[in-house]
Amino acid sequence: MEKGTAFAFGGERGGEGEEAVKTGASEKKALVVVDMLNDFVRPGAPLEVPETRAILPALRRRIAKARREGELVVYVCDSHRENDPEFARMGWPPHAVEGTPGAGVVAPLAPEPGDVVVEKRTYSGFHGTPLHFILRRNGIRRLTLAGCVTNICILYTAADAAMRGYDATVDERFVAGIAPDTHAFALDQMERVLGVRVVRRPGRKALRR
Ligand code: ZN
Repeated sequence: MEKGTAFAFGGERGGEGEEAVKTGASEKKALVVVDMLNDFVRPGAPLEVPETRAILPALRRRIAKARREGELVVYVCDSHRENDPEFARMGWPPHAVEGTPGAGVVAPLAPEPGDVVVEKRTYSGFHGTPLHFILRRNGIRRLTLAGCVTNICILYTAADAAMRGYDATVDERFVAGIAPDTHAFALDQMERVLGVRVVRRPGRKALRR
Protein backbone atom coordinates (compact mmCIF):
# COMPACT_ATOMS: atom_id res chain seq x y z
CA MET A 1 0.00 0.00 0.00
CA GLU A 2 1.19 3.44 -0.84
CA LYS A 3 2.12 5.51 2.15
CA GLY A 4 0.68 8.92 2.92
CA THR A 5 2.65 12.07 2.34
CA ALA A 6 5.49 12.14 4.84
CA PHE A 7 6.84 15.41 6.16
CA ALA A 8 10.24 14.74 7.67
CA PHE A 9 12.49 17.04 9.65
CA GLY A 10 14.35 19.58 7.59
CA GLY A 11 11.82 19.24 4.81
CA GLU A 12 8.92 21.48 4.04
CA ARG A 13 8.58 23.86 6.95
CA GLY A 14 6.83 26.79 5.32
CA GLY A 15 8.49 29.43 7.44
CA GLU A 16 8.41 29.75 11.17
CA GLY A 17 5.11 31.65 11.31
CA GLU A 18 3.49 31.04 14.65
CA GLU A 19 0.49 33.28 14.11
CA ALA A 20 -2.71 31.75 15.38
CA VAL A 21 -5.39 30.44 13.07
CA LYS A 22 -8.16 32.89 12.36
CA THR A 23 -11.38 32.39 14.25
CA GLY A 24 -14.24 31.54 11.96
CA ALA A 25 -11.94 31.23 8.96
CA SER A 26 -13.06 27.77 8.01
CA GLU A 27 -15.14 24.82 9.07
CA LYS A 28 -12.56 22.42 7.68
CA LYS A 29 -11.46 19.73 10.06
CA ALA A 30 -8.60 17.38 10.71
CA LEU A 31 -8.42 14.14 12.61
CA VAL A 32 -5.01 14.02 14.28
CA VAL A 33 -3.96 10.47 15.16
CA VAL A 34 -1.12 10.51 17.68
CA ASP A 35 1.45 7.76 18.25
CA MET A 36 -0.59 4.73 17.23
CA LEU A 37 2.73 3.04 16.53
CA ASN A 38 3.92 -0.53 16.90
CA ASP A 39 6.16 0.45 19.84
CA PHE A 40 3.11 1.66 21.80
CA VAL A 41 0.40 -0.73 20.68
CA ARG A 42 1.85 -4.22 20.30
CA PRO A 43 1.80 -6.59 23.28
CA GLY A 44 5.27 -6.51 24.87
CA ALA A 45 6.26 -3.33 23.01
CA PRO A 46 8.85 -1.09 24.74
CA LEU A 47 6.22 1.53 25.63
CA GLU A 48 3.21 -0.71 25.58
CA VAL A 49 -0.06 1.08 26.33
CA PRO A 50 -2.55 -1.80 26.47
CA GLU A 51 -5.53 0.55 26.27
CA THR A 52 -4.52 1.42 22.69
CA ARG A 53 -5.72 -2.02 21.61
CA ALA A 54 -9.10 -1.38 23.20
CA ILE A 55 -9.62 1.81 21.17
CA LEU A 56 -8.35 0.33 17.87
CA PRO A 57 -11.67 -0.80 16.34
CA ALA A 58 -13.48 2.45 17.15
CA LEU A 59 -10.55 4.57 15.99
CA ARG A 60 -10.29 2.59 12.77
CA ARG A 61 -13.95 3.36 12.05
CA ARG A 62 -13.43 7.00 12.99
CA ILE A 63 -10.50 7.31 10.55
CA ALA A 64 -12.58 5.72 7.76
CA LYS A 65 -15.38 8.20 8.49
CA ALA A 66 -12.91 11.11 8.33
CA ARG A 67 -11.65 10.00 4.93
CA ARG A 68 -15.20 9.56 3.63
CA GLU A 69 -16.26 12.99 4.80
CA GLY A 70 -13.21 14.85 3.57
CA GLU A 71 -11.68 15.48 6.97
CA LEU A 72 -7.87 15.58 6.66
CA VAL A 73 -6.31 12.60 8.45
CA VAL A 74 -2.98 13.55 9.98
CA TYR A 75 -0.77 10.97 11.67
CA VAL A 76 1.55 12.52 14.22
CA CYS A 77 4.25 10.01 15.01
CA ASP A 78 7.10 9.78 17.47
CA SER A 79 10.34 9.44 15.52
CA HIS A 80 13.40 9.38 17.74
CA ARG A 81 17.10 9.23 17.06
CA GLU A 82 18.88 6.21 18.44
CA ASN A 83 20.19 8.05 21.50
CA ASP A 84 17.49 10.62 21.67
CA PRO A 85 17.83 12.93 24.71
CA GLU A 86 14.17 12.19 25.54
CA PHE A 87 15.09 8.67 26.62
CA ALA A 88 17.54 9.68 29.33
CA ARG A 89 15.88 12.95 30.29
CA MET A 90 12.35 11.62 30.65
CA GLY A 91 13.33 8.10 31.67
CA TRP A 92 11.72 6.23 28.78
CA PRO A 93 13.13 3.07 27.26
CA PRO A 94 14.20 3.56 23.64
CA HIS A 95 11.11 3.53 21.42
CA ALA A 96 9.95 4.61 17.96
CA VAL A 97 13.48 4.96 16.67
CA GLU A 98 13.32 6.39 13.15
CA GLY A 99 13.51 3.78 10.42
CA THR A 100 12.64 0.84 12.70
CA PRO A 101 9.39 -1.17 12.46
CA GLY A 102 8.50 0.03 15.96
CA ALA A 103 8.18 3.57 14.63
CA GLY A 104 5.57 2.53 12.09
CA VAL A 105 1.82 3.10 12.41
CA VAL A 106 0.07 -0.15 13.37
CA ALA A 107 -1.19 -2.08 10.36
CA PRO A 108 -4.95 -1.73 11.02
CA LEU A 109 -4.61 2.07 10.98
CA ALA A 110 -2.08 2.33 8.15
CA PRO A 111 -1.97 5.71 6.41
CA GLU A 112 -3.53 5.87 2.97
CA PRO A 113 -2.88 8.14 0.02
CA GLY A 114 -4.21 11.59 0.85
CA ASP A 115 -3.37 11.25 4.55
CA VAL A 116 -0.49 13.20 6.01
CA VAL A 117 2.26 11.84 8.25
CA VAL A 118 4.15 14.23 10.53
CA GLU A 119 7.12 13.06 12.56
CA LYS A 120 7.75 14.56 15.97
CA ARG A 121 10.55 14.20 18.51
CA THR A 122 8.77 15.45 21.59
CA TYR A 123 5.41 15.11 23.32
CA SER A 124 3.92 17.86 21.18
CA GLY A 125 2.83 17.32 17.61
CA PHE A 126 3.57 21.01 16.98
CA HIS A 127 7.04 21.41 18.48
CA GLY A 128 9.66 21.48 15.73
CA THR A 129 7.26 20.04 13.15
CA PRO A 130 5.39 21.44 10.14
CA LEU A 131 1.97 20.54 11.64
CA HIS A 132 0.79 24.13 12.18
CA PHE A 133 1.88 25.05 8.65
CA ILE A 134 0.13 22.04 7.11
CA LEU A 135 -3.11 22.72 8.95
CA ARG A 136 -3.12 26.41 8.09
CA ARG A 137 -2.30 25.68 4.47
CA ASN A 138 -5.36 23.43 4.38
CA GLY A 139 -7.53 26.09 6.02
CA ILE A 140 -8.14 23.91 9.06
CA ARG A 141 -8.92 25.28 12.47
CA ARG A 142 -10.88 22.42 14.03
CA LEU A 143 -9.03 19.37 15.26
CA THR A 144 -10.01 16.09 16.80
CA LEU A 145 -7.12 14.54 18.69
CA ALA A 146 -6.98 10.76 18.98
CA GLY A 147 -4.48 8.07 19.89
CA CYS A 148 -2.13 7.89 22.86
CA VAL A 149 -1.09 8.71 25.55
CA THR A 150 -3.91 10.81 27.06
CA ASN A 151 -1.78 12.60 29.66
CA ILE A 152 1.38 12.85 27.57
CA CYS A 153 1.34 13.42 23.81
CA ILE A 154 -2.40 14.07 23.61
CA LEU A 155 -2.25 16.60 26.46
CA TYR A 156 0.82 18.49 25.21
CA THR A 157 -0.38 18.48 21.61
CA ALA A 158 -3.74 19.79 22.85
CA ALA A 159 -1.91 22.51 24.80
CA ASP A 160 0.05 23.63 21.76
CA ALA A 161 -3.11 23.47 19.62
CA ALA A 162 -4.91 25.71 22.10
CA MET A 163 -2.01 28.21 22.16
CA ARG A 164 -2.24 28.42 18.38
CA GLY A 165 -5.96 29.10 18.35
CA TYR A 166 -7.35 25.75 17.20
CA ASP A 167 -10.69 24.41 18.36
CA ALA A 168 -9.88 20.95 19.62
CA THR A 169 -12.06 18.01 20.51
CA VAL A 170 -11.00 14.91 22.41
CA ASP A 171 -13.44 12.02 22.43
CA GLU A 172 -12.68 9.52 25.14
CA ARG A 173 -13.53 6.60 22.86
CA PHE A 174 -10.51 7.41 20.71
CA VAL A 175 -7.78 8.13 23.25
CA ALA A 176 -5.80 5.68 25.36
CA GLY A 177 -4.20 6.36 28.72
CA ILE A 178 -1.72 4.40 30.81
CA ALA A 179 -3.67 4.56 34.08
CA PRO A 180 -7.22 5.66 34.89
CA ASP A 181 -6.15 8.47 37.23
CA THR A 182 -3.72 10.21 34.85
CA HIS A 183 -6.13 9.65 31.95
CA ALA A 184 -8.95 11.33 33.92
CA PHE A 185 -6.66 14.13 35.09
CA ALA A 186 -5.57 14.92 31.54
CA LEU A 187 -9.13 14.98 30.19
CA ASP A 188 -10.11 17.27 33.01
CA GLN A 189 -7.12 19.54 32.45
CA MET A 190 -7.83 19.79 28.72
CA GLU A 191 -11.47 20.57 29.35
CA ARG A 192 -11.08 23.11 32.15
CA VAL A 193 -7.77 24.76 31.34
CA LEU A 194 -7.30 24.44 27.59
CA GLY A 195 -10.88 24.85 26.42
CA VAL A 196 -10.88 21.50 24.67
CA ARG A 197 -14.28 19.96 23.99
CA VAL A 198 -14.07 16.66 25.82
CA VAL A 199 -16.58 13.97 24.92
CA ARG A 200 -16.72 11.41 27.69
CA ARG A 201 -17.35 7.75 27.30
CA PRO A 202 -20.87 6.97 28.52
CA GLY A 203 -20.81 6.17 32.21
CA ARG A 204 -17.63 8.10 32.94
CA LYS A 205 -17.89 11.33 34.81
CA ALA A 206 -15.60 14.29 34.94
CA LEU A 207 -13.50 14.63 38.10
CA ARG A 208 -15.35 16.52 40.74
CA ARG A 209 -14.28 20.05 41.42
ZN1 ZN B 1 8.83 9.38 22.53
